[in-house]
Formats: sequence, structure tokens, C-alpha cells
Amino acid sequence: MNPVIVAGAGAAGLMAAGQARERGRKVILLEKNPRPGCKILASGGGRCNLTNTCDRLEFISAFGRNGRFLHPAFARFFSGDLRELLQRLDVPTQADDEGRVFPSSGKAADVVAALEKWIERLGVEIRAGAALLDVLVGSAQSSQGKMSRWITTARTQSGDIPAAAIVVCTGGITYPQLGATGDAHAIACRLGHTIIPCHPCLAGLHSPDPVCINMQGVSLAARVEAHDVMSHPPRRMARRQGGIIFTHFGVSGPAILDISRDIAPAPYDGRRVEIVIDLLPGESGMPTRLLNDCQSAPRKLIINHIRELLPDKMAAPLLERCAIRPDKPLGQITRRERNLVATTLKALRLTITGSEGAERAMITKGGVSLREIDPGTMQSRLVRGLFFAGEALDIDGPTGGYNLQAAFSTGWLAGNNV
Ligand SMILES: Cc1cc2nc3c(=O)[nH]c(=O)nc-3n(C[C@H](O)[C@H](O)[C@H](O)COP(=O)(O)OP(=O)(O)OC[C@H]3O[C@@H](n4cnc5c(N)ncnc54)[C@H](O)[C@@H]3O)c2cc1C
Repeated sequence: MNPVIVAGAGAAGLMAAGQARERGRKVILLEKNPRPGCKILASGGGRCNLTNTCDRLEFISAFGRNGRFLHPAFARFFSGDLRELLQRLDVPTQADDEGRVFPSSGKAADVVAALEKWIERLGVEIRAGAALLDVLVGSAQSSQGKMSRWITTARTQSGDIPAAAIVVCTGGITYPQLGATGDAHAIACRLGHTIIPCHPCLAGLHSPDPVCINMQGVSLAARVEAHDVMSHPPRRMARRQGGIIFTHFGVSGPAILDISRDIAPAPYDGRRVEIVIDLLPGESGMPTRLLNDCQSAPRKLIINHIRELLPDKMAAPLLERCAIRPDKPLGQITRRERNLVATTLKALRLTITGSEGAERAMITKGGVSLREIDPGTMQSRLVRGLFFAGEALDIDGPTGGYNLQAAFSTGWLAGNNV
């Protein structure tokens, strides 16, 4: 019996290899990097936010229109199954207040080590530093003239391997320094698959506005909207609430990363995007509140007042933006200035000129078209014995553990069906 070849030892590939081996297949796992699981190691800032506690329907809806494709995979292997597997492998997990699940140790390395040990114990042959270069296929025409194709061989750097099935789990195009460089798309394309154009997302957004660099390092909870300012009137493209951080290049943080996914392929498709940040989402009736404050404490300096509302470092840059002297007493603030401050705090507008790009984006939007993959098995509808799983597919979710779970679940399903 020829072996099953799994290409890519990320979340999807490790799971596919383990599951295929548990079902008695001989498995060779090819990994281009010198070691498996590099992206898992970097995930969640080294803590690995591996899944989320939300229920299956909410989970699926987080992926948008393409989420439907994940129904069968999640029905077979979902967050509870993943946590149970890790528990069996001596990696207990725990959820935070927002439902994000991490290994209790807080170490992504524990997840990788456990999965690696699991597949080694099962007898998966891991070939590190070995890339899948291509997939060779056989073909035949039926008497009705219908063409069928099936995989025969995995072409690797160190030679050809005849294969019973090939599972391509080589990831998307983002963070190429961790190994994923679009190889799945090149291979799938050569075999006739449609590739939905890829864009980096879950990335920080660039803004030339000096207020960003002046408030660099400040993080806070905010409400953020993205607007397409070329449409008339400007159209709201996305809205998120959560943590943001000002940086030397613009803005980042979970709410901004999610916005970058919501608006992709903007800002790279010619649309002019502006984000509007409500720095005080819990505060309604701001102009009136400011008026009351000005009347009740007329001698208080405006900068001290802003410092009571927001982190200290924000006060001077925000007042500079409003062209108001920081040492101006509240009693001397004019109505126009009051309105300007209220608008700046409740709707800080930043022009967006780009994002951190593929080098720094966490995931890829786009990939192998789902129309050509059977969601119940992950097998290609075009080439028998060829499977795809993980980020190589046209599936992308927000921050919060969604993407790793999708990779684990689709990998598991592919491994279960080879
Ligand atoms: C910095 C960062 C932090 C993240 N944090 C989180 C998080 O906390 N939670 C979350 O849910 N998601 C997170 N993500 C996203 C998540 O890590 C990915 O969506 C997920 O790891 C994708 O898994 P995958 O197995 O499909 O692909 P990958 O993890 O990219 O694995 C693909 C593997 O294939 C290998 N490979 C590539 N080409 C070949 C080839 N030709 N032959 C053999 N091997 C090849 C690569 O070296 C790589 O090891 C993060 C991503 C990044 C970059």
C-alpha cells in the first residue's frame, strides 16, 4: 500500500497526519521548515489561542459567507474534541473572559510538542526540511468521454514518492518567514483548480496621521468603523468594538485586525478608506458632558480634564489636533472648541493608506476555491485522492481562535477520509 503524503506540518497537517495514521494508513508528513508547527508557535503572541468557546453556529457565522463550508468538518471535530485531544496529550486548556481558549500553561510550544509526540507515537514518518514540489496525476477517459484524474505521485525535493492520497496543508501566503508561501495555490492551479485572489488580512493598518505616532504605545478599548470615502455618501464597510493600539505606522490591536479582514481587499483595490474611532464608547452625550464640566470646573486646565477621560499620553496629541492650547482653562473653552474636542474623542478620523501586508498579516483571505472541494471529505472534486485543508482553502475567520480551529478541523476531516 502506498503511503498517504501530508504536505505541511502546521495545525491542519499535524491533525491530518495523526488522524490518517489513527485510521491505519501509512503516513509521511513533509515539512519545508526544519521543524513542524512554526506558525502555531508564533500564534496568540506565543500563547496559542487555539479555539473559542462560542457555539458551532456562532463559530461558523464568524467566517462570513464561506463559513457554511465548515459545517461538516465542525460536526465531526470541533472545539470540545480539540480540547479533549489536547487534554489526553497532557495539555489542559482554559478559556478567558472573551471565550478565547489557550493551553493552561500559556505556552504554544506545549501544543506543538504534544502534537508532534502524538504523531510520532502513532508512527507517522516526519520528513522535516522536505518540500512538496508538485503532485503528479494519472488520467483516463470513460467510454462516455468523461475524463477522470487521480493522484499518483508526490514530487519532493528528494525525489518522487508514489502516493495513495495527498493532503495539501501548506497554508496561505502570509507570514512567509514561517513557511507558508502559497505553494498549495501553485499546485492546485496547475491541477486546474480555481484560486480565489489572495489578500493578507488580520494586519495592522497604516495611517500617515501624526496623531498615531504621537500616541504610539497607547492601547484602549474603542469602537471602530471603516468607511469607503469614495462612495457618496461615505459607505460604512465594517464596525468592530475591542482593543486598539496606536503604533509608529498607524493602528493595530484586535479590533483593527478584524476590521482589516472585513474591508479586504481594501485598501489595496483603489478605494480610499477612513477609519473612525470612538475613543470613549461608553460615553454618550459628549458635548453636553463637556459643557457641564467646563461650567463646574472653569479653572481646570483642558489637558488635565482630557487626562481624566483617556490615557495620559493621548491628551497632548489630541489637543494639538484640535489646535487648542493644553494649558487653556475649561472656563475659556469656546463652544466651537468644545464641539471639536467632543468630535475628536467620539469620532477620531484617520486616513488609511495600506496595511502591514503579507509579511506581517496573520491570515490569508482567498485561496483554493471551495466550490471544487467536497466539504464532507476535503477531497478535490477535480482530482481523486487529492485533499486540501487549512488556510490553503478560501476560508478566513476573525481573531479569537477561529482560524486555528478551522485548520485543525479541516485537517482532521481530510485525515479521516484519505
Ligand atoms: C503571528 C500569527 C499569530 C496567529 N495567532 C493565531 C491565534 O492565536 N489563533 C488563531 O486561531 N489563529 C492564529 N493565527 C492564524 C493561524 O496560525 C493560521 O490560520 C493557521 O496556523 C493555519 O494553519 P495551516 O496548517 O493551514 O497553515 P500553516 O500553519 O501556515 O502551516 C503550513 C505549513 O506548511 C509548510 N509548507 C509550506 N509549503 C510547503 C511545501 N511545499 N511542502 C511542505 N511543507 C510546506 C509550512 O512551512 C508550514 O509549516 C496566527 C497567525 C500568525 C502569522
